[in-house]
Amino acid sequence: MSGSRGGLTVITGPSGVGKGTLVSRLLERHPSVWLSVSATTRAPREGEQDGVNYFFHTRDQFDALVTQGGLLEWAEFAGNCYGTPRAPVEEQLASGRAVLLEIELEGARQVRRSFPSGFQIFLAPPSFSELERRIRGRGTDAEDAIRRRLARAEQELKAQDEFDAVVINDALDTALAELERLMGLS
Ligand code: ADP
Ligand code: 5GP
Repeated sequence: MSGSRGGLTVITGPSGVGKGTLVSRLLERHPSVWLSVSATTRAPREGEQDGVNYFFHTRDQFDALVTQGGLLEWAEFAGNCYGTPRAPVEEQLASGRAVLLEIELEGARQVRRSFPSGFQIFLAPPSFSELERRIRGRGTDAEDAIRRRLARAEQELKAQDEFDAVVINDALDTALAELERLMGLS
């Protein structure tokens, strides 16, 4: 089954593989696709804006969202919490729009249970050493965060067979074309 023309697509992959880069290129080319803005307890990186890149919350605010059932899924990742606000996703799906979630593995597993008809894509690096090079090259994370992200990446890479499709982000344009094809956008 193809992911889009309306409907839910999940994209998961280790930190630093290029999910953000690929998704922003996809959205530039296909403004009709709606990208969910997640809630997080992580501090904003330089240039990140509240309500645009994430909804930045304290741990108490995040816990309240969980208690109220306001999140479709949520998980802890490298010492912070991340979750998908439920209501906007449901509204966008009801309006027939293609909805994209860019989330980590545990969240993808939860969505697989709640939206079995969704299409789940794993974005993989060409190699582990290239992944490490990209995380470090991005220059946004402290050394301990980089180590936590690389340790988690090893676990995530083992789970790629659970996904409906695996896209390797070697050349960005090739990965973008593959993503478009899988989402029925090409
Ligand atoms: P993620 O959102 O998966 O954590 P990013 O989109 O922040 O990853 O990308 C991590 C780094 O890798 C960035 O510096 C980005 O410019 C770079 N990058 C992304 N895709 C590619 C690619 N296909 N080839 C080389 N570098 C890439
Ligand atoms: P970052 O801190 O690099 O922005 O994101 C860290 C990880 O959290 C990435 O793998 C990203 O996909 C994931 N993530 C972002 N938003 C969500 C979310 O709403 N839910 C879950 N489960 N993971 C998320």
